[in-house]
Amino acid sequence: MNLWKTVPDWLERRRILEGREIGFVPTMGALHSGHLSLVERCRRENQTVAVSIFVNPTQFNDPADLDRYPRTLENDLRLLEDAGTDEVILPGASEMYPDGMLVRVEPNGSAHIMEGAYRPGFFQGVATVVLKLLNLIRPRRSYFGEKDYQQWKVIDEMARDLFVPTEIVACPTVREASGLAASSRNALLSPKARREAAALFRTISSARLCEEAKATLEAQGFLVDYVEEHWNRRFVAAFLEGVRLIDNVAMRPPR
Ligand code: AMP
Repeated sequence: MNLWKTVPDWLERRRILEGREIGFVPTMGALHSGHLSLVERCRRENQTVAVSIFVNPTQFNDPADLDRYPRTLENDLRLLEDAGTDEVILPGASEMYPDGMLVRVEPNGSAHIMEGAYRPGFFQGVATVVLKLLNLIRPRRSYFGEKDYQQWKVIDEMARDLFVPTEIVACPTVREASGLAASSRNALLSPKARREAAALFRTISSARLCEEAKATLEAQGFLVDYVEEHWNRRFVAAFLEGVRLIDNVAMRPPR
């Protein structure tokens, strides 16, 4: 497994890989079973597996959230090596934004609701860094989790609209045994809250209406940003112990 910390070093490597089908998994590290499911699928479908670890400052609207975002690099590299990763791209912020942010991608389709409404600037930050990474890696396919379904949709729209020659692949959400969606932010919860957080998935899966799901979660101590339905899915964002968690489920067709 090779590690690349600067853009010029990676680009030199990229020239050597010309002609190979590259699959790419962008991450912010603190890797867990959800990330690894993307890497495993990428391994099955491509000749070369590239993974980036970059905690992207431009997608955090809350500086405290950026500061306390978990960072577990040594463990991440071990997991990636075991999963058969070939190339790890580990750029610093000054590599990704050498001149600050001279150009910003402004997604204009599915980006205005939910995460876009509650986290101003979030999808601009995500779309900008993902486009930069896709231009650096030039993968045939890139893998994203349905856990962040709206993010997958915004990136898929960006890639199509800007004629990026990469297939944007959506992968199913990996869950802990309790049903809680695997997430780097789960590590910030106390053991008690981590058990309670499983109510998110249970409630959005079983409630008849969004309002009912919201009331149930609030009664259990969640501070709810939204429960909404779009694209035949139900979405939730809520805080527990000050940690913001999101999830979504496909809606069953009416009987
Ligand atoms: P992150 O490191 O949180 O930016 O996530 C990197 C990628 O992993 C994104 O495409 C996420 O949607 C995906 N991902 C995160 N958690 C999960 C999960 N529980 N199941 C599947 N994919 C996930």
